[in-house]
Amino acid sequence: MNNTQEKASILLIYTGGTIGMIENPETGVLESFNFQHLADNVPELKKLGHHVETYQFDPPMDSSAMGPDSWTKIVHIIAENYQKFDGFVVLHGTDTMSYTASALSFMLENLSKPVILTGSQLPVGMLRTDGKENLITAIEIAAAKENGVPVVPEVCIFFENELMRGNRTSKTSADNFNAFRSYNYPPLAHVGIHIKYDTAQIYRPISRKPLRPHYLLDRNVAILKLFPGIPPSVVESILNIPGLKGVVMETFGSGNAPMDDWFLAMLKDAVQRGLVIVNITQCRAGSVEMHRYETGKKLLDAGVISGYDSTTESAVTKLMFLFGHGLTSEEVKEHLNCSLIGEITLPPSQR
Ligand code: ASP
Repeated sequence: MNNTQEKASILLIYTGGTIGMIENPETGVLESFNFQHLADNVPELKKLGHHVETYQFDPPMDSSAMGPDSWTKIVHIIAENYQKFDGFVVLHGTDTMSYTASALSFMLENLSKPVILTGSQLPVGMLRTDGKENLITAIEIAAAKENGVPVVPEVCIFFENELMRGNRTSKTSADNFNAFRSYNYPPLAHVGIHIKYDTAQIYRPISRKPLRPHYLLDRNVAILKLFPGIPPSVVESILNIPGLKGVVMETFGSGNAPMDDWFLAMLKDAVQRGLVIVNITQCRAGSVEMHRYETGKKLLDAGVISGYDSTTESAVTKLMFLFGHGLTSEEVKEHLNCSLIGEITLPPSQR
């Protein structure tokens, strides 16, 4: 593809995380530092030829402390600066980056400009840092245009050598530079000597509508991870959390679970009370297929719905987003059976 290198305006939003951290000489602990330090450590930023402005979270946040309030803050920053910039790079801690990317993909409806999240495993001030390359390439991707149109009008994570659809990613390594994977959707670009975009995989807005930012999220959701021998008390206490609206249930294989009567009865009761229970697999790759085995079929009969090949991160934030808009359980279930922004692969019969 012939991507133009015309000068672009990029807003770099520094939320925090290792990429902007420095070692406290006294304690040896990594602490956030002023963004000015990042610019000092990456003089290449000036050489890029793009116009880069920065916005810094004050104080910068470790991503393990981020959640709906920070996602809303990022959406506000992007929406308020949407006309002024060609693309956005969000520097973010890696720990919860996939949750933020998933949430942003739902909250930025009709996005037609790149929003590229990246971070690093080693602070940018360290000799062997992965932060510099990640940052510089993320800016290049956010700036890329073809015939004046952004090449990647999606919320993505760029890390190490792959550009991935944000709501398809999970953090899979606590120490490798290659820390993220998108198991159920191909990378949108491979980055080596060249940035090779796979345009067929990149989301294309059907019509050009103005950005519609959403700010409402409901955090009354929970994750129920099954394991062999799970006691009834654990399932019961989760399904009876006061005010709970949605549960992401992580099952085995293609969506299977124990067939004990007590288990199925608890699920059925919860669904009848209006709880939405989404079935996703604990396997890294592949999809839930509840018609495949009898145990999956029993879950269907109990009113559990399929999360298809969703990541946990995407299923949790999708529930928060849908309930945040005051939808009823039935309406939420309908939306869970649709791909809102490429977060799930529906079977051909449902497309
Ligand atoms: N704890 C850090 C964070 O997620 C780790 C990182 O940035 O990679 O904010």
